[in-house]
Amino acid sequence: MISKTTVDHIQQAADIVEVISDFVPLKKKGQNLMACCPFHNEKSPSFSVSPTKGIYKCFGCGKAGDSIRFIMDIESITYVEALRYLAKKYNIPVEEDTRPTDQQQLEQNERESILIALNFAKNYYQHLLLEDEEGRYIGLSYFKERGFNEKTVKAFDLGYSFNAWTGLTDAAVKAGFSKDILVKAGLTIVKEDKIFDRFRGRVIFPIHNISGKTIAFGARILKADKDQPKYLNSPETEVYHKSRVLYGLFQAKQAIRNEDNCYLVEGYTDVISLHQAGIENVVASSGTSLTEEQIKLVGRFTQNITVLFDGDLAGVKASVRGIDMILESGLNVRVVTFPNNDDPDSYLRKVGAQAFKEHLKEQNTDFISFKISLFIEEAAKDPIKKAALIRDIVESISKIPDSIKRSVLFKQCAKLLDVDETVLIAESNKILINQRRQQKPAKQNEEIFPGVLPPDNLFEPEGLVGEEEKAAQPDAASSYEKEIIRMLISYAGMEIESDYFVCDYLLDQIKDVSFYTPAYARVLELFRQELGKGYIPHTDFFIKHPDWEVQSVSIDLIADKYELSEQWENVFKIHVPKETDNLPDATFKAVLRLKQEQVKRLIHQNMQQLMQAGKEGNLDEELRCMQVHAALKQTEAQIASHLGNVIA
Ligand SMILES: [Zn+2]
Repeated sequence: MISKTTVDHIQQAADIVEVISDFVPLKKKGQNLMACCPFHNEKSPSFSVSPTKGIYKCFGCGKAGDSIRFIMDIESITYVEALRYLAKKYNIPVEEDTRPTDQQQLEQNERESILIALNFAKNYYQHLLLEDEEGRYIGLSYFKERGFNEKTVKAFDLGYSFNAWTGLTDAAVKAGFSKDILVKAGLTIVKEDKIFDRFRGRVIFPIHNISGKTIAFGARILKADKDQPKYLNSPETEVYHKSRVLYGLFQAKQAIRNEDNCYLVEGYTDVISLHQAGIENVVASSGTSLTEEQIKLVGRFTQNITVLFDGDLAGVKASVRGIDMILESGLNVRVVTFPNNDDPDSYLRKVGAQAFKEHLKEQNTDFISFKISLFIEEAAKDPIKKAALIRDIVESISKIPDSIKRSVLFKQCAKLLDVDETVLIAESNKILINQRRQQKPAKQNEEIFPGVLPPDNLFEPEGLVGEEEKAAQPDAASSYEKEIIRMLISYAGMEIESDYFVCDYLLDQIKDVSFYTPAYARVLELFRQELGKGYIPHTDFFIKHPDWEVQSVSIDLIADKYELSEQWENVFKIHVPKETDNLPDATFKAVLRLKQEQVKRLIHQNMQQLMQAGKEGNLDEELRCMQVHAALKQTEAQIASHLGNVIA
């Protein structure tokens, strides 16, 4: 753990303007600085940096945070890694809070030794490919045959291994590596009393992690040998978990962000060929079928994946099902196929870069229509198959978390399949309701499509979708809660009158109000906790909070899109009133608005009870409700008169 003191030092030193300027040019505009957002594609700048608050916010895509968050997002690294990055930039010594245990220290050392050994192996293989006679003659000419130039060979650190038993192992031991580490790195194999290299007589494809370190190898055999697999990969090691790695991501990440799209292919050579042809936003899930972790990895850079399918129709049909997983993760999926059983690499070599790019542009289709087109022919003749296809497609669409996207797809799908849209939606509601009954927590936020009722007995009376939905907060309540929290974290320590602070007043006024919006409730809870420790938390406590949800909510609250330029006052001598000019009044009104909302809700609830009592003929209850109603109406009027608004 990095110590709190070190984190504080880093936060103080890491000037937001300096940190961001390393990545994007900033232009002064009023009190703030602006740039074209590095996280989404745009032509006019909506990325705003506030030097005084130490935060940035993009009004286009919504990304926001402090210096640390910026480094995490732009480099796609963890909180701790970002801290280390900034510590290095500002020459701040990193203090560890608790000394790691001997066991932890050992593990840490071992991980590092493995990485160093892998790096040694990468250099060794690369040297053989580029400098050694056998390497150049066999390895390099193989790559040249495939059309790779030397720049590409170097960009991917390609290499060659001798067709010998202990070439690498001997060199590594001579360089001081222990056999134990070489085995743990997956480079050397010990079998009975024999010790030998894993990769022999192969061209080598190093696999990098996201920051460019070599963590494993893929290796292709050059001579046909039926006893040997064509491709051989490193085993899982302490530093290599294949389900969490995408081949080529390190070389592709910047392009993926710039293009806001990621091409997904099958093999190493597809990645390298496309890269060389100028299509750099490409990765492969080599060695595994696509995993959830890999999709999340792509999701850090873009929400759009385009899958480039290999080979024949049967193969495509088989692998199509795996793609549902991408939909489930909320990413947008498009697909491209290639004619005549070509894979991306072979097709590219056949038609050339220009025609290939045009093919990608013209032939990409959204995944759902693609899936329909794939199966519609056989389904058209067979009603049973058609029903199965419809169910299958609806299932795919139901996996998409975003209801607007789903609705667009249902329309499109209804047309393509020539069925009524309501049938599709009803079918989907059935699926969603079943999911909810099974109470998969991840699905709880899904909304059922409104307006279309599923057929017949689909709903049992108690099955009427979620009471929780009806109870969900109205938007109005959320905006008044937001206002209170905004004032609380912005002005907590300012005095309303002598020795009476904004936070005292607000907390006192809202002590019996329960907040409906979880994010605001959480900030409020944190505020109370900190106050309990005997001090008033500053705005920075929230906008620099390590819990990302707290940080992002807080930044949203205090980032003004249209911050009034001081110029108004200085140049035009026009006084623009600010809420700090009259803080007591501003807080008072914020509290009143929240209470007004609460009273409205109580009136509504009471009316319901009144109606119920009327139906049941319960006269006592009716009378009680009427009294409550009168009292609430009176309160409502009082609040309204304070706020200066008229109520009906
Ligand atoms: Zn943006």
